[in-house]
Amino acid sequence: MHIRDIFARHPTTFSFEFFPPKSADAAEVLYQAILELQTLRPSYVSVTYGAGGSTRELTHDLVVRLKEQTPMDPVPHLTCVGHTQDEINAILTRYALAGVSNILALGGDLPRSMPDHDRAKDAFRYAAQLVAHIKAFNNSHAHPDKRGFGICVAGYPEGHPGTPNRVREMDYLKAKVDAGADWICTQLFFDNRDFYDFRDRCTLAGINVPIVAGIMPVSSIKGMLSMADMALGARLPAPLLRAINRTPGDPDSVRRVGVHWATEQCRDLLDNNVRGIHFYTLNKSTATREIYTTLGVRLAD
Ligand SMILES: Cc1cc2nc3c(=O)[nH]c(=O)nc-3n(C[C@H](O)[C@H](O)[C@H](O)COP(=O)(O)OP(=O)(O)OC[C@H]3O[C@@H](n4cnc5c(N)ncnc54)[C@H](O)[C@@H]3O)c2cc1C
Repeated sequence: MHIRDIFARHPTTFSFEFFPPKSADAAEVLYQAILELQTLRPSYVSVTYGAGGSTRELTHDLVVRLKEQTPMDPVPHLTCVGHTQDEINAILTRYALAGVSNILALGGDLPRSMPDHDRAKDAFRYAAQLVAHIKAFNNSHAHPDKRGFGICVAGYPEGHPGTPNRVREMDYLKAKVDAGADWICTQLFFDNRDFYDFRDRCTLAGINVPIVAGIMPVSSIKGMLSMADMALGARLPAPLLRAINRTPGDPDSVRRVGVHWATEQCRDLLDNNVRGIHFYTLNKSTATREIYTTLGVRLAD
C-alpha cells in the first residue's frame, strides 16, 4: 500500500525493521520472529540493504517473501554507494514488478570491503539525488500504483556524524523532502528530547512530511556497544546507563532494563503525538511484543 494511504489509515504507524539473514540459522530466527510479529499487524516492515550491494539479492528475496507469504507490507532500503544508474533501475524495476509500494532511499556508507572505491563513479552521491531519481522513475516506468513508489528518507535527531554543521544538515534533509520524499524515519535515539527538538527544527525548516521515530531497546551490554557503533553518535543518557549499572549485568536483567526504557520512550512519544514508531527489531520479536503489550497498543484494522 502506498505510504500516503498507510498514513491516511493509521493515525499512528507502527513498523518494524528486519535485516536479511546470511546463514540458515539466522534465517530460522528471523522467520520465527516474522511469524510472531505479523500477529501485531504492523503498518509496514522495512528490510535493510548492504551498502555497495552486498545484500542485493538477499534483500530482494526477503522483500518478495514478505510480500508474497505474509500479510506485512515490505519497504526495501536502497543505498546509493557503489551503484550505477542501470543497477539502481534494475533493482527498482524488479520491485515495481513485485508490487512493492514504497522504498527507503539512503546515501549509505562505503563498506569496509570497498576501501578503494571511487565514489565519483557512483550515479548518486547523496540520498536526495536517489530520491529525485526514484521520482523520475515513477513518471517513466510502469508500477501497479499510478503514483509509483512512496519514498522514505533518513533523519538524525542527534545529527549525522558526516555533517557537524547542524544548520546545513537541516538544509540537506529539506533537499531530500523537496526532491520528493513522502516521510522521514529517524535514526534510533534514547532521549525523546532529541526527537522533539529535531521535530521542531524540521517544522522551522519547512519540512512538513510525517516523521517516524526509530526505537531500539538495549538488549545486552554487547548489543549496546554494537548499537552505538552502528548508529554513530547515538548517546546513552545517564539515567539509562545508571539503570543498566544497577543490574548484575546478566543478559536477562539488562534486557529488562532496555525494554522498560524503550517502553517509557514509546509511551511518552505517543503522549506527544508521534506520527509513527519504527522498531529496530534485530530480527527478534520478544522485546517488540513486550512493548506492545505493556503499552496496550490497539492493533490496526
Ligand atoms: C532509518 C535508517 C535506515 C538505514 N538503513 C540503512 C541500510 O539499510 N543500509 C545502509 O547501508 N545504511 C543504512 N542506514 C545508514 C545510512 O546509510 C548512513 O547513516 C549514511 O551515512 C547516510 O545516509 P543518508 O541517507 O542519511 O544520506 P544523505 O542524506 O545522503 O546524507 C549523508 C551525509 O551527507 C550530508 N549531505 C547530504 N547532502 C549533502 C550535500 N548536498 N552536500 C554536502 N553534504 C551533504 C548529510 O548531512 C549527511 O552527513 C540507515 C539509516 C537510517 C537512519
